[in-house]
Amino acid sequence: MIAKTKMVLLGPPGAGKGTASELLLKDVQLAHVSTGDIFRAEMKNGTELGKLAKSYIDAGKLVPDEVVAGMVASTLNGEACKDGFVLDGFPRTVRQAELLEEELAKSGRTLDAVVLFDAPEELLLQRLTARLTCRKCGLNFNKIFGKPKVEGVCDHCGGELYQRSDDSMETAVNRLKVYNEQTAPLIEFYTRKNLLFTVDASLPKAEVYAAFLKALN
Ligand SMILES: [Zn+2]
Repeated sequence: MIAKTKMVLLGPPGAGKGTASELLLKDVQLAHVSTGDIFRAEMKNGTELGKLAKSYIDAGKLVPDEVVAGMVASTLNGEACKDGFVLDGFPRTVRQAELLEEELAKSGRTLDAVVLFDAPEELLLQRLTARLTCRKCGLNFNKIFGKPKVEGVCDHCGGELYQRSDDSMETAVNRLKVYNEQTAPLIEFYTRKNLLFTVDASLPKAEVYAAFLKALN
């Protein structure tokens, strides 16, 4: 179904990478690799890198890029990823991308594709601030995709709907700022390596997915 099976997903928060990768993983047998899962697995299995990562975390420090890249590469080289992988949430900086490349090269591997999910900032902000939560029962609504029947009122229990601080405009603006400063430079990095494919993530979900599949062929 797809030709490129070793991929990194790139894109700002709110672009819908998660939704697209969920759809892909239903259709194609690939390993989904996120750094959170890797950390948990390496620490649980007590690998050298896992122990090293734990020592930083226990000391309340950030795990250095070298250690993270080493863990990611060892996962990607493992049995579970032999038919391909979708790497999501890493690399987030050019330094991390360089380290990943070096680590993969050690076992003679390279990436097949880096897929960028791109959408105008205005739309991203709209999506990132769309969630409304019921104060009483915790049910979520969405201002774009799943409005409540009566504005500001929970369909389920009649409770008041509010915006959680994670979903506030301030948080959304900040997340996009971090992405633009730290992660957006990867677009140029991977373009120069002829690995970048861009998907217009402002389109409806089905069209985004179709464009995603096309990029992988
Ligand atoms: Zn409710």
